[in-house]
Amino acid sequence: MADKTRRITNWGNYPAIRAEFIAPESSQEMRAEVLRHSRLIARGNGKCYGDAALSTCVLSTMKLNRLLDFDREKGIVHCESGVLLAELLEHIVPAGWFFHVTPGIKNITVGGAIASDVHGKNHPEKGCFSNWLLSFELMLGNGEILTCSKTEHADLFWQTCGGMGWTGIILSAKFQLMPVSSMFMQQRTVRAENLEAVFQAFQTHDNWPYAAAWIDCLSEGLYAGRGVVYFARHLQKADSPDAPLIYPFGKVRNIPFFAPSGLLNRYTIRAHNWLLFNRAADGEQQIDVDRYFYPLDRMRNWNRLYGRRGFIQYQFCLPEENSLQGIREILNTIRQNPDLPFLSVLKRHGERAPEAVHSFPIKGYSLALDFPRTATVFSLVEKLDAMVWQFGGKIYLTKDACSSGKMGRINPAEFGDAKFHSLLKERILANQTSG
Ligand SMILES: Cc1cc2nc3c(=O)[nH]c(=O)nc-3n(C[C@H](O)[C@H](O)[C@H](O)COP(=O)(O)OP(=O)(O)OC[C@H]3O[C@@H](n4cnc5c(N)ncnc54)[C@H](O)[C@@H]3O)c2cc1C
Repeated sequence: MADKTRRITNWGNYPAIRAEFIAPESSQEMRAEVLRHSRLIARGNGKCYGDAALSTCVLSTMKLNRLLDFDREKGIVHCESGVLLAELLEHIVPAGWFFHVTPGIKNITVGGAIASDVHGKNHPEKGCFSNWLLSFELMLGNGEILTCSKTEHADLFWQTCGGMGWTGIILSAKFQLMPVSSMFMQQRTVRAENLEAVFQAFQTHDNWPYAAAWIDCLSEGLYAGRGVVYFARHLQKADSPDAPLIYPFGKVRNIPFFAPSGLLNRYTIRAHNWLLFNRAADGEQQIDVDRYFYPLDRMRNWNRLYGRRGFIQYQFCLPEENSLQGIREILNTIRQNPDLPFLSVLKRHGERAPEAVHSFPIKGYSLALDFPRTATVFSLVEKLDAMVWQFGGKIYLTKDACSSGKMGRINPAEFGDAKFHSLLKERILANQTSG
């Protein structure tokens, strides 16, 4: 019999599994596949980093990619779940609309945005994607389709937002956009000499809706945790260069092949960090929305820089009161280990809506760290899990590949027999009381 499986990985290129990969073209075809398999998971564009969206049977939504309606007056999009944010930008920007909440990547599906309940650099003001989500259609394990919103099947709505695909398959969604009149952002750059100064900058600029910082995780002593903080706000048409509202915007380059696995090492990372810090200049400038929100999308396949062994992204969020001390101690621990992060992004977060039980951000700060995959990185993750736990924090499941079950992780190899029965909440609560 022909082997219907293929090798699948997500953005981190680790882990890789062999799985049956099916891309239904309609909800009827999707239903037939859902009924045929007892172990399965929905998959969007595979831009989560670790092992979410992996199972013995993967049902891709990429062919459910129709824009069903776009109300240009009210800024409401209704689309199938496999539509990419990048595709939507081409329709919504010329009509004067943008996403209230967007992650730092536009090549993700609307289904993926809901299942991870993604956040952007404006979480204190706008919350997560679910905040602007009006409703979605969800296919359950028995093939039944339910419309879920904050008032209809509300429990299932909130179990699905950030639920990592464990409640069913999101078929389509409706969400609210925000009006924009310019393609430009006003960006303020602040160079901060150490971690305390980075936190100070976040506090003194809390009137800027967007904020994120790059941290030099290798800097030590008086300069430990130095970084560059980028604040931004949308410009109005009257205050910005007269560029038409259009998409796509800018050139995309490509990394054509995998780099040698040792390319990112202590010396190259140190040189990269030195450049990033020293080339940043304090001050303000106007930059286009694409460069501001999606700089990484301008380098197609940049994940190949980590080599064929791939990499692990570890993103955690600590409560505000523990953030500075916790992140300082975590950076100290990392510096004493052989594994060093290449990229690191610090964001501030606001209150989480109490119903948004699976959304990642809690009021405080999150740090995302990319580590090349080595033999020793797993023991580092174990140490980081213990520290994040001790500081009352949590990890972002959409990035995770190897954290402990205590952190809310469910091993996809165990998942599937109870198809689409969301055990996530119960599992987390059980782990918290036993841990
Ligand atoms: C460069 C980069 C930057 C990023 N920046 C951010 C950021 O700033 N903020 C942030 O929050 N995230 C960020 N992410 C993570 C990314 O936004 C999420 O992982 C997102 O879920 C990926 O969407 P996808 O369509 O690729 O889904 P996939 O990666 O295919 O799947 C992700 C999860 O969603 C589930 N899923 C997908 N589609 C459906 C569906 N139709 N029904 C049910 N479940 C579904 C899958 O089962 C899986 O659990 C970033 C990722 C990258 C690569």
